[in-house]
Amino acid sequence: MKAEIIAVGSELILGSTLNTNSQYLTKRLSEIGIDVLYHTTLKDNRDQLKEVIDIGLKRADLLIFTGGLGPTGDDFTKEVVSEALGLELVLDNSIEDDIRSYFNKTNKVMTPNNIKQAYIPEGSKPIKNDLGTAPGIFIEKDGKTVVLLPGPPREMKHMFDKYVMPLIKQDYIIKVVTLKTIGIGESNLETIIKDIIEKNDNPTVATYAGDGLVDIKIVARGDNESEVMKLLEETVAKIKDRIGESIYSYNDEGIEEVVFKILKEKNYKIAFAESCTGGLVSSRFTQIPGVSEVFDRGIVTYSNMSKMEELNVSRLTLDRYSAVSEETALEMAKGLMDKTNVDIALSITGYAGPPSGEDEPVGLVYIGIASRDKSKVIKTRLNGDRISIQNKAALKAFNELRKFLLNM
Ligand code: AMP
Ligand code: MG
Repeated sequence: MKAEIIAVGSELILGSTLNTNSQYLTKRLSEIGIDVLYHTTLKDNRDQLKEVIDIGLKRADLLIFTGGLGPTGDDFTKEVVSEALGLELVLDNSIEDDIRSYFNKTNKVMTPNNIKQAYIPEGSKPIKNDLGTAPGIFIEKDGKTVVLLPGPPREMKHMFDKYVMPLIKQDYIIKVVTLKTIGIGESNLETIIKDIIEKNDNPTVATYAGDGLVDIKIVARGDNESEVMKLLEETVAKIKDRIGESIYSYNDEGIEEVVFKILKEKNYKIAFAESCTGGLVSSRFTQIPGVSEVFDRGIVTYSNMSKMEELNVSRLTLDRYSAVSEETALEMAKGLMDKTNVDIALSITGYAGPPSGEDEPVGLVYIGIASRDKSKVIKTRLNGDRISIQNKAALKAFNELRKFLLNM
């Protein structure tokens, strides 16, 4: 099924409100295997709305509108859609009752234009709005499904999940697996699994890139559970064959969560010494509930002095190789091991930019990892601005930890 999402509202076009509805709906639809082909956003303008509906009906089977369902003069999505579909508006008594009781319950004053909301296109189903007054509308006509939802995201999400989902869900089983990867760029990854993506049938495979991470979403459908599982497993195995090490999770966990789980399983304690990430690694790690079971401490050693005082990095090393070097990263990690009673220590030092001197290659980062009997340093060059380099460095640190731990 092909879908188009149409967000109506001048505030969306003028840049004052971010169109989050289209993103939310697309995410939810992709989970049930519905392909969203177009996002359209337009002002509160009747002529343009009419034009958009006509185009939408030609190229999609499912049209979801959000916005323009309120009681005021610039809300006319329902009227224009009904007209385009050739449907009369008729008063729905149950909606009228709902609206009256909403106003009673909330002690708000009801104005005559609120009753406008109780009119629905003939033959359509109203969609209850538990969190506001504007009901949604579900229309099926000539093989097309048209859904109208109000703009406020809280109302829209609730109505979509509770009432629209069951109506558009098709009667086959859909399962989704998200493979989380790190270390391969999106275009590179796409090339590696190009043939699998291009089959684009069942299952469908798509990549989604974030800052330094790429998710691979596999959606399979079928008549029964075992058929769907088989399809998924075959595809997962194929992808794993090609990029095995880069997959850090098969069930949608964050990379820090994966590290946490391995540490917990092995009953290890960890500590971090951070320079260029300024505590970001610790901060991300402590967002996981229960992390105190494995996390001993995180120290931010930003200055040379602090690296010497807190971690026993030698002045000689700092002078000879600089604070951003393999030698310093290693001494930081080893120093942290000596200072604490943990099983594994991680250090991170690098240039997050912008450059303050000539000999500061922005994005150069060293990650040191030490256990009682092993240590290593990973050198990497990251790109982006300061914040992006810090984020990528933190992610890289977690990934290197994950790999180190799996070989421990
Ligand atoms: P409406 O249903 O058009 O009266 O929308 C009411 C309010 O919902 C607007 O003022 C926006 O703040 C919000 N809204 C409408 N459309 C969207 C959208 N696509 N994404 C996020 N917020 C929206
Ligand atoms: Mg509006």
